[in-house]
Amino acid sequence: MTKQKVPFLDLVTPHQQLKKELFDVLETALSTAGFIGGEALNRFERDFAAFCDVKFGVGVSSGTDALRFALMACGIGEGDSVITVPNTFIATGEAISQSGAMIEFVDIDERTYNLDPVKLRTYLQTQCEFDALSGHLRSKRTGGRVGAVVPVHLYGQMADMDAILELAEQYHLIVVEDACQAHGAEYFSQKEQRWRKAGSMGKAAAFSFYPGKNLGACGEAGAATTNDPQVAKMMQHLRDHGQAQKYYHDVEGYNGRLDTIQAGFLSAKLPHLAQWNEQRRSRAQRYNQLLSVMANSVSTPFEPPCSKAVYHLYVIRTQNRDRLRDCLNEKGIGTGIHYPVPLHLQKAYASLGYRKGDFPIAEAVSEEIVSLPMFPQLTLDQQEMVVAELQLFIRAAETAACVRA
Ligand SMILES: *Cc1c(COP(=O)(O)O)cnc(C)c1O
Repeated sequence: MTKQKVPFLDLVTPHQQLKKELFDVLETALSTAGFIGGEALNRFERDFAAFCDVKFGVGVSSGTDALRFALMACGIGEGDSVITVPNTFIATGEAISQSGAMIEFVDIDERTYNLDPVKLRTYLQTQCEFDALSGHLRSKRTGGRVGAVVPVHLYGQMADMDAILELAEQYHLIVVEDACQAHGAEYFSQKEQRWRKAGSMGKAAAFSFYPGKNLGACGEAGAATTNDPQVAKMMQHLRDHGQAQKYYHDVEGYNGRLDTIQAGFLSAKLPHLAQWNEQRRSRAQRYNQLLSVMANSVSTPFEPPCSKAVYHLYVIRTQNRDRLRDCLNEKGIGTGIHYPVPLHLQKAYASLGYRKGDFPIAEAVSEEIVSLPMFPQLTLDQQEMVVAELQLFIRAAETAACVRA
């Protein structure tokens, strides 16, 4: 394959720039054989917690583990139902079912692509009933106790947390944030009159450090955050075979630790995260400006005033999406679709019994979204190239429509 003119993502450049720091991490690990636990892990956990404005960070082996451990540590398990959105990476669903709980979907807001609090309220009011005997809220669909809601801060933009937290309080639901795409994103809480960081607003939250995320390891890694010392302790147990002390197991846990070398790599990168996020934000603004001439045909991301998004992805919505992708691909421009099939229509979740039409917004959006190249080192030239090709495609599509008409 020939080299792409504008790659979807460039993971080589930042690692070349930090080569010395990253090699130092390896050198220390190899010369001390410190591969598991230790000061490098503690330091990363402390620094990442500080970055997220939370008391505790617990390093784990992936974002999926972080979310599963967070749910379990908050008491979610067998017999529970957990609410989330259909337009997310399947890991959100996996973490819920693998905690023992059942998945319940609620549709999204058409502008933000995040959980719609109005639809969440309607769901709680009409699809659930209060069971006076147990004192629990029950899902009419699954019969399960509705125990938690998992808002996903999709593409790096915060879900509407004030509204979600208020409903959660009213209905006694635990909130666990899927912040796997939102390291450093911020939300202005009207209620508290201050900006708050992703991962600091729920009972617990999950972050992924998969290489392509805004903060990525050089392999697999993740972290769970919380302000609750009991939850933090439980997450520490769960990631390490349920042991507080070697070979004394309070609960049955998992092998889900963050290894020392990855923690070291992440510590080397963390000081750059705020600047990388700023670069992503400025590239997003540039795309917005360049695309404004096509406002009739292309919807750019909507960032409400209460949100400071970190643009893990820059996602536009347009018709003829598949043909557009082919066309951009031919011109050497990398794109992605996040995600082509909503979870409720995935084969893996056929047994949940959902049907096409159940979540019309998520379904419609999934057919029209395309993610454009987005990474901190993206140049203005590259962005102009992307937009020029996009404009050519749209003009051609419009002319073709005229000819046909
Ligand atoms: C990446 C991601 C995950 C899972 O993270 P891994 O580290 O790949 O396990 C979960 N949820 C969302 C929304 C993600 O983007």
